Amino acid sequence: MIREVTAKTLLSSAKRPDPWFGIKYTMNLYRGCPHQCIYCDSRSECYQIENFTDVLVKVNAIDLLKKELPRKRVIGTIGTGSMSDPYQPVEAARRLTAQALEVIAEQRFPLHALTKSDLVVRDLDTLQHIAQVYAAVSFTITTADDELGRKVEPGAPLVSRRFAALRKLAEAGLLTGVLMMPILPFIEDQPENITALVARAKACGATYILASFGMTLRDRQRVYYYTQLDRLFPGLRRQYEQQFGARYSATARAAKRLEQIFTEACEHHGLATRMPFYEPAPPLQPALF
Ligand code: SF4
Repeated sequence: MIREVTAKTLLSSAKRPDPWFGIKYTMNLYRGCPHQCIYCDSRSECYQIENFTDVLVKVNAIDLLKKELPRKRVIGTIGTGSMSDPYQPVEAARRLTAQALEVIAEQRFPLHALTKSDLVVRDLDTLQHIAQVYAAVSFTITTADDELGRKVEPGAPLVSRRFAALRKLAEAGLLTGVLMMPILPFIEDQPENITALVARAKACGATYILASFGMTLRDRQRVYYYTQLDRLFPGLRRQYEQQFGARYSATARAAKRLEQIFTEACEHHGLATRMPFYEPAPPLQPALF
């Protein structure tokens, strides 16, 4: 179900940019996400989203952004995509992300968009405009296999479409990369999956690939994930329960070895394992006479 809501504020600020994604201001134009990844952390109780399949459209988001951005004293990277995908299907008609990007371009703020959708290619022109300051687009891809992707991310565009979108943006000169996170224990933690992802990211023109070998398993997130395991991978829940109990996070099998394989593959392909962040231009030096 799609519902319209009015938000009080839009941007939330961090004291300093986070060390993984370089994000200082977080922007969520929608709440809820029909991509329905079985592992989605946004289902956790702390986020207080009662029905994650409902999509809430913040109808006043663009007005809020126009008011809030000029008041920011510190220019910092605006991140979108951490709690709901900015290019989920409703965006094709509502265009909130497209309009927000135009405001960001006008206000000359840097941007990092995180998505699982090839709809982002629609906004290439605006992204190029923003890139005069700084723009990065990261595609979350956790398996190189379309069929497995269809199981674990049933509402999201196929992995092959995400790679094709990454290629288009990279060929247009945008900074792009892959977020290889989470890696689901017993499902995606084979060395062949890791090396295939790195090789494909490189072949499509990615500059960086960020990885995390495991997943979180919090309260409602865990409940939902386990019901999906029962449906899609019968018997696997038992292995999880034995291995991880009530722990908050679940680490991939042989995570250290996987990390080593990942690092070597990235070195081999010349891919960075950290993304380059926005850096403010140094102030102009006064001319010396
Ligand atoms: S795309 Fe992101 S926000 Fe949407 S369901 Fe998947 S993990 Fe959750």
